[in-house]
Amino acid sequence: MTKSSNTIHAVDIIRHKCEGLPLTTAEIQAFIRGIVDRTISDAQATSLLTAIFLLGLNPQELADLTSAMRFSGEVFDATPLHTFTIDKHSTGGVGDKTSLLIAPIVAAAGLASPTPAGVPGICVPMISGRSLGHTGGTLDKLETIPGFNTQLTLQQFFETLKSCGASLIGQTPTLVPADRILYALRDHTGTIESPNLITASIMSKKLAESLNALVLDVKTGSGAFMKSYDDSRHLANLMVQTGTLAGTRTVALITQMDQPLGRFSGNWVEVWECVDIMKQVRHPLSADLIELTNALSGWMLHLAGKAATPEAGAALSNEILKSGAAYQAWLKIVEAHHGDTSVFADPAAFHKPTATRTLKAETSGYLASMDCTEVGWAVQRLGAGRLHPGDPVSAHAGIEMHIKLGDKVEPNQPLITLFSEDPTLLTEPYEMLRATLQLSPTPPTLQPLIRETITDATSTTQ
Ligand code: URA
Repeated sequence: MTKSSNTIHAVDIIRHKCEGLPLTTAEIQAFIRGIVDRTISDAQATSLLTAIFLLGLNPQELADLTSAMRFSGEVFDATPLHTFTIDKHSTGGVGDKTSLLIAPIVAAAGLASPTPAGVPGICVPMISGRSLGHTGGTLDKLETIPGFNTQLTLQQFFETLKSCGASLIGQTPTLVPADRILYALRDHTGTIESPNLITASIMSKKLAESLNALVLDVKTGSGAFMKSYDDSRHLANLMVQTGTLAGTRTVALITQMDQPLGRFSGNWVEVWECVDIMKQVRHPLSADLIELTNALSGWMLHLAGKAATPEAGAALSNEILKSGAAYQAWLKIVEAHHGDTSVFADPAAFHKPTATRTLKAETSGYLASMDCTEVGWAVQRLGAGRLHPGDPVSAHAGIEMHIKLGDKVEPNQPLITLFSEDPTLLTEPYEMLRATLQLSPTPPTLQPLIRETITDATSTTQ
């Protein structure tokens, strides 16, 4: 930071926070400016991040941090489209592919109700991420479609939204640069798992899409970043309050992540599962995926004024899937991203792992539990994820679940099939899955998939 008589010094900001004083809006703005123009050193940034990690933020500090990060670079502005702009964000899970279904479902509803200017009545500007830790990433899945370009410019993104009603792209270098710098520092310094820092990171990126409304899927359970219900609830409340304060209608569903969502986890296999659903091929193991997709889309359609209640929205979402309208919107979106839609004719035939192995039950019993984070790591180690940012990922690595929690199995019955493009990568994930899947002689007690919904009317400061 440059020095002048009215300069706010980084060291003073850190000292104020450590002394328990609330940071002022000006201090937070100066800190984020210094992060982006690199006048604040990594040591100073880390020091403040650690203080926030330990001491938290009050609601005003959190709103100020989120806003300063949101406006730290370019923001995407869909207002010239005069459409209802809405997105969905998940805090990250295993086999969570709802974005691939929700974007075309909501786009189809928007295409069916254009504005007087001929633009879809609803637009879904999804700025998505790559695989992170044990969780998969929407961009890695989409890039298994030959030719699919996730790196559109903001102008191309705007044009795609105008013609298709939805577009899915990666973070651009100019959007929320403060988060890229702070996230990398948090990753290196063990300060990721702070509800305040997670809220500012996620909400600054979502609010930079200039949304009318946002639906959040906050995961809880063994496969979530926030494993305890109280922590997930706290995070959901912070996110809803932060979105609401910024003028975006925000709703959070707290959903159970104790097992992979749906039938497949990986990259192409997840696209395959979604294409099947959009083509009305409903595998029984996809039932939880369809239920969650309809609940999240249902809220989006309700907030966008297409359904009187979230429940009516969920029924409309299911109709859009069943009528084939979501599939038509999907084809349009993929073509706009230069993806080759011919691979959807037979998605199973396009799946070409070079090595597979099936884990089978050794005894009879009910599938009682698993550490879903461990399952996610097994998927990543098959080649679906990356060890370092920028590493390539394998298109055809992944797993297929043959049973779900609570199902009964007999000895030798298949539990999970593993896929890899490198036979040497099969052994470790196989042993990880074998160790974590627990059978019991009696049926387990299971939590519902959707545990709670938090809206601006129900959120509480904790
Ligand atoms: N995802 C993000 O984008 N940021 C976080 O801090 C955690 C998960």
